[in-house]
Amino acid sequence: MTRHTPPPPSTGCRNAPVLKQRGQHEVFCGLTGIIWLHRKMQDAFFLVVGSRTCAHLLQSAAGVMIFAEPRFGTAILEETDLAGLADAQNELEREVDRLLSRRSDIRQLFLVGSCPSEVIKLDLARAAERLTMKYAPRVRVLNYSGSGIETTFTEGEDACLASMVPTLPETDKRQLMLVGALPDVVEDQALDLLAQMGIEDVTVLPARHADTEVTVGPNTVFALTQPFLGGTHAALERRGARHLPAPFPFGEEGTTAWLQTVAREFGVDQARFGAVTDAPRARARKAVAKATETLNGKSVFFFPDSQMEIPLARFLTRECGMEAIEVGTPFLHRAVVGPELDLLAEGPQLSEGQDVDLQLERCRAAQPDLTVCGLGLANPLEAEGLTTKWAIELVFTPVHFYEQAGDLAGLFSRPVRRREALKLGATA
Ligand code: SF4
Repeated sequence: MTRHTPPPPSTGCRNAPVLKQRGQHEVFCGLTGIIWLHRKMQDAFFLVVGSRTCAHLLQSAAGVMIFAEPRFGTAILEETDLAGLADAQNELEREVDRLLSRRSDIRQLFLVGSCPSEVIKLDLARAAERLTMKYAPRVRVLNYSGSGIETTFTEGEDACLASMVPTLPETDKRQLMLVGALPDVVEDQALDLLAQMGIEDVTVLPARHADTEVTVGPNTVFALTQPFLGGTHAALERRGARHLPAPFPFGEEGTTAWLQTVAREFGVDQARFGAVTDAPRARARKAVAKATETLNGKSVFFFPDSQMEIPLARFLTRECGMEAIEVGTPFLHRAVVGPELDLLAEGPQLSEGQDVDLQLERCRAAQPDLTVCGLGLANPLEAEGLTTKWAIELVFTPVHFYEQAGDLAGLFSRPVRRREALKLGATA
């Protein structure tokens, strides 16, 4: 049976007290974003300027040999570089020369900073500038930091997109910019829905290919598709673009609210909006309803990891009937997640930042039916009998917009069902 999403709460969480935590973090660093960014930008190369640890992280996160050189790799800083005994700047530029002379398919090169490159204060911005002058117009070289100190893994995408914004050509054109690296098939669905509503002037950041012109200016309005793009949001506003604050396109309700915000901005009338969205909305509701049979009435606890926690808590509580006990997020960016907080009914403890031991104590005391957390915490919590979901899967799996709403709900219902099946097996 399809569950009806409740009306918006009279008191949402926008002004709810937030527990600020400043302790030990248990998260992956921003280098992780390269795994999905290199798939999205098909002629870009990501050169991590880091240590063997960084290379190992990428290798294990990507599950491939990075030295096989697909479209990302590591320029390894050796001990002599770290001790300041070698000119790492010159060595890096020689490494880029070697790479670009071999690989004519590379059109954009990102020099990605890491903890070691930051410790030795390697000036990647200067290197990127020099290399751009040398290789323009064939290759554009940009830089951003994927360093792990006090960051979380989704910040890599934010830093990458923010690094592109200052280089975008200026335009006066009235246009919509979609911001966020979605899988191509999902992006196509979104563009198709917008086109059916008559919104045709749409540009996407990041573009799939370097030669697709992405422009920005005072008549650009932008809609974020991911809640972790606070830096890109600020960079676009500096270029004069205007943000359309909206819930994120997770689940039927989030997708409808997101599309409605865009439709209102472009003067799409309700009849046309309904004609375009009624059928996919019904499909999404039906798909979510299947998972809801498992999730309804269950409790969920979020550790801060992906920065997607608040929109997901909204989806799970409002569309799947779950109860959120704690919603932890690494950063609470109100300009970005404000509309989500309005929809999330008062009740859960909101927390920002992390103090992992204290949070583990709260989680153990609450004994939630489902805990959403990073890889490092999931196995120990499973061993203690808690059911977990890895937050990182949410960025590797297509979960946005109507056609993926059922898959999104399924990501949460599967571990709960598996645990129930194991319990039944044990008592049989
Ligand atoms: S946390 Fe720092 S040293 Fe470790 S992999 Fe990430 S960038 Fe490299």
